[in-house]
Amino acid sequence: MENKNAEVTNIEPFMRSDQYNFIKLQVKNIIHAHATVKDKDVIHAVKYNSLQKVLDLFPEANEDEQALLEKIVELEKDIEAERFLNELIPYVIPFENVTEKTIMKLFPKAKKLKLPPLDEIDFKDISYLGWYDIRSEKKYLIANYRGKLTGIHGTFKPSVKGICTLCNSYEEVGLFMANIKTGRETNISRGNYICRDSQMCNENIVSLDKLNSFVELLKN
Ligand SMILES: [Zn+2]
Repeated sequence: MENKNAEVTNIEPFMRSDQYNFIKLQVKNIIHAHATVKDKDVIHAVKYNSLQKVLDLFPEANEDEQALLEKIVELEKDIEAERFLNELIPYVIPFENVTEKTIMKLFPKAKKLKLPPLDEIDFKDISYLGWYDIRSEKKYLIANYRGKLTGIHGTFKPSVKGICTLCNSYEEVGLFMANIKTGRETNISRGNYICRDSQMCNENIVSLDKLNSFVELLKN
């Protein structure tokens, strides 16, 4: 039977978590402009500049997707921003389903590895899965690198506040160092500073570029 109440849209999930975060940032700019700028032309410029940046993320967007994104220029108040951002959530593609089995497969040598709380993670909120294993004093990361789930792990030494290599934000970071095989019997240590709190890091990620470079550099 035909469901007359069903909304007919031509929209499947089409944005990643980092893209959603990018849109969120643009929305924040627009609301901020409305609250602080009096000049209508300036507000107009801010809005259309933000819209252009958002549309540039989705060159393949169909008409319905574009219409959805274009609502960004109508936003003026916090409550409208919140409603708009909630409206986008169904269109976020979750990070690949990671199970205990996936983790064991990606880190076959890690014995008694403490697993992240998989049930509590909203996979729509993450661009990578990261957690700290207190027993081995290592941090484990799983990212989708070139279409393939890739695991990297390294020692992690908490440090002071600094810029995170993954999300480019000023946060509580730590030095992540991974052992990389460079030849049959040679290993080198390579790494950089990344957020201690991977959940927060994920909220800050507005592009996958840095995450991809990090994985490229550190994968075995
Ligand atoms: Zn970070």
